[in-house]
Amino acid sequence: MAGVQDRVVVVTGAGGGLGREYSLLLAREGAQVVVNDLGGSRDGSGSDGSAADKVVAEIIEAGGRAVANHDSVATAEGGAAIVATALEAFGRIDGVVANAGILRDRTFIKMTDDDWDAVLKVHLYGAYNVIHSAWPHFREQAHGRIVVATSTTGLYGNFGQANYGAAKLGLVGLINTLAKEGAKYDIKANAVAPVAATRMTTDIMPQEVLDKLPPDFVAPLIGLLCGDELEENGATFVAGFGRYHRVELFHAAGAAFEKTPTVAELAAQWSSVVDLSSPQPGMGLSL
Ligand code: NAD
Repeated sequence: MAGVQDRVVVVTGAGGGLGREYSLLLAREGAQVVVNDLGGSRDGSGSDGSAADKVVAEIIEAGGRAVANHDSVATAEGGAAIVATALEAFGRIDGVVANAGILRDRTFIKMTDDDWDAVLKVHLYGAYNVIHSAWPHFREQAHGRIVVATSTTGLYGNFGQANYGAAKLGLVGLINTLAKEGAKYDIKANAVAPVAATRMTTDIMPQEVLDKLPPDFVAPLIGLLCGDELEENGATFVAGFGRYHRVELFHAAGAAFEKTPTVAELAAQWSSVVDLSSPQPGMGLSL
């Protein structure tokens, strides 16, 4: 099987923005797509199933294969129902693109527990709920592809997005471990931090920048990561402006001690601890 031809891929939050572009591209490439979207507003309030229905109609009109699902990713039941839609409509599930998202931007001093919970529930728990339901099928058939939507906010931080950044870097932690647990079952889990003009970014970047950020630029990377061509597993990418970059954590050569150093001894070696002039891929500490 080449690429995503005949693969069954769930795309969450696919009624608009990036998820819509991912679904259109996957369908064009021959995949059978479950277009999930609750159809809520940017802050997660409300719901309108017509967003997903419209994308499905667009795919079918173009000769592709897709079904809609309107469940929320934010509950375990929703995650199970989304995977059930794939099984009922197409008889299997080969991939999950965990893309659904909301924003509740506030500086940390103003952030409420509700802002924190709502964002974690959709992004981090939302990905977990769908992937956890799909995982036994991936294991059973010894094949699965997972792509989570991370963000440069998670990787590098951004003012007013503590909830969002925590959720987004949590997703990188999730795929790093799923990549290890899934490797011998041909389950690959990767993360993409997109940069694109959507309703999420429309008021936070100037129009001349947004004009260079059509969301369809990101979609080919999702198509590749859902297919069979790549070896990457547990990798993170940034994609936007027509550019595609792998991102990796590095560590400094560092300082090593045979015995527990004093504070003063550690301070004396500080320049080695923080010197990133010879960076090494951060594979964790080994003896
Ligand atoms: P968007 O608002 O257009 O898309 C998000 C979609 O998720 C919406 O259609 C919304 O209805 C859906 N959704 C929200 N809550 C849901 C729920 N509980 N269940 C199911 N669907 C739900 O925004 P977008 O820019 O296309 O964002 C897509 C993903 O990419 C998000 O995870 C976002 O955080 C991430 N991202 C986007 C950018 C960017 O530059 N646009 C940057 C970094 C990360």
